[in-house]
Amino acid sequence: MLQRISELIGRYRTFLITAHERLDGDALGSELGLYHLLTGMGKEATVYNQDPTPENYRFLPGSDRIVHDLPPLDPVEVAFILDCSELERVGREASRIASAPTLINIDHHISNEGFCDTALVDPQASSTGEMICRVVSHMGLAVTPEAATCLYTAILTDTGGFRYGNTSQGALLAAAGLVAGGADPQWISEHIYETNSPAKIRLLAAVLPTLTIEEGGSVGSLTVTQQAIAAAGALPEHTEGFVDLPRSIRGVMISILYAELPDGRYKLSMRSKGNVNVEQVARTFGGGGHMNAAACRIEGEITDIKRRVLEAIRTSAAS
Ligand code: 5GP
Ligand code: MN
Repeated sequence: MLQRISELIGRYRTFLITAHERLDGDALGSELGLYHLLTGMGKEATVYNQDPTPENYRFLPGSDRIVHDLPPLDPVEVAFILDCSELERVGREASRIASAPTLINIDHHISNEGFCDTALVDPQASSTGEMICRVVSHMGLAVTPEAATCLYTAILTDTGGFRYGNTSQGALLAAAGLVAGGADPQWISEHIYETNSPAKIRLLAAVLPTLTIEEGGSVGSLTVTQQAIAAAGALPEHTEGFVDLPRSIRGVMISILYAELPDGRYKLSMRSKGNVNVEQVARTFGGGGHMNAAACRIEGEITDIKRRVLEAIRTSAAS
């Protein structure tokens, strides 16, 4: 598949690049890393995302060129769909994007449905960014400092700052190659992790009292309502990283962030330690992800949602 993707990149001239809604560092870093590679080869490339770029990723080179209205697709020969296990994760333009003559999916989710004929999918990969590095190596390309910065960000963020179970030798070797190519680890980490807005920290202060520890200390959770977001003058993206707090508690094996969406549903972000599989739990509710990081959206009353989730966790643990 690497060979086929390299050939398609070599053969065509006009590319669209997109990723999932509610952007994270891997989605953005992979898109922009690929964008710099393609434009560096003299190709035309457009990065389209439904959602705006979260503030802490606006330092990524090229992020100011991302478009949020899908342009006419007539000239597009190849559309890359990155970090998506299902086509629908792209958002409301999914069906238009799917009409591009050639689609290429590069992804690392276990739950990938194989929606695309040309798909490079490896659940063992730490991140989509690491997989783009494989394309780069396969094609014998050199990364520019811009591409290296973006791809390093992708690997850094999807491994939780090189801490999660997916922090493999492959992830670290790819990251080291990117540092050799001009990525600056200290500068990048500072932009991602040390540029919080006061509103985010105000929101965190309002959310910390919702900490709940259940199931004999093994499940920790936080809850964020739309009301709390509004009262703190914060944005929905400001909840990123909150799920890591219950996970940091000794004995907690599963951490959950219940975040109310504008439509009243709840988005659950789940994280786990070791062999505890939260992807299975997310899948019960129509979501997915990875063994140690998964998410889903659930409709209903919050106490009822929490009861159903704990039940699903018990069922999953027993299987
Ligand atoms: P997060 O909690 O950071 O939003 O998501 C955790 C992981 O689950 C990420 O790898 C993300 O791509 C994946 N994920 C989030 N929502 C969904 C979903 O609705 N379906 C699937 N298959 N994966 C999801
Ligand atoms: Mn990813």
